Formats: sequence, structure tokens, C-alpha cells
Amino acid sequence: MAELMCVKCKVALVEEKIELRYLDHSMNVTALRCPECGQVCFSEELVRGKISEVEMTLEDK
Ligand SMILES: [Zn+2]
Repeated sequence: MAELMCVKCKVALVEEKIELRYLDHSMNVTALRCPECGQVCFSEELVRGKISEVEMTLEDK
């Protein structure tokens, strides 16, 4: 996996667990954050996967 850099600071992004809220559900996702400016970069695929997980749980009810 290629290391992602912050375009602004030119430093490598670090992985960080972040709590995300969607439809009264909270989920922990791993996001990439710039240690310099704090800019968070989510993998869009990952977020979409989590959201569909939540939607599936809702449909089960
Ligand atoms: Zn930065």
C-alpha cells in the first residue's frame, strides 16, 4: 500500500480510529489524518461499506 501524503504539508498521513455517526448509529472507522494540519482523509469505499452495514442492520428489524 502506497503511503498517502498530505498535499499541504508533504508529510505522511497517520492512521487513526475515528467515530462516525450515521442515522443514530456510531461506528468506528480507520481514517488517515495529517499530523501537521489535522486534515482527515477517509477512504470513501470504507465509509460506504460501513454505511451499507448500518442500513442492513436497520432492514433486519
Ligand atoms: Zn497537512
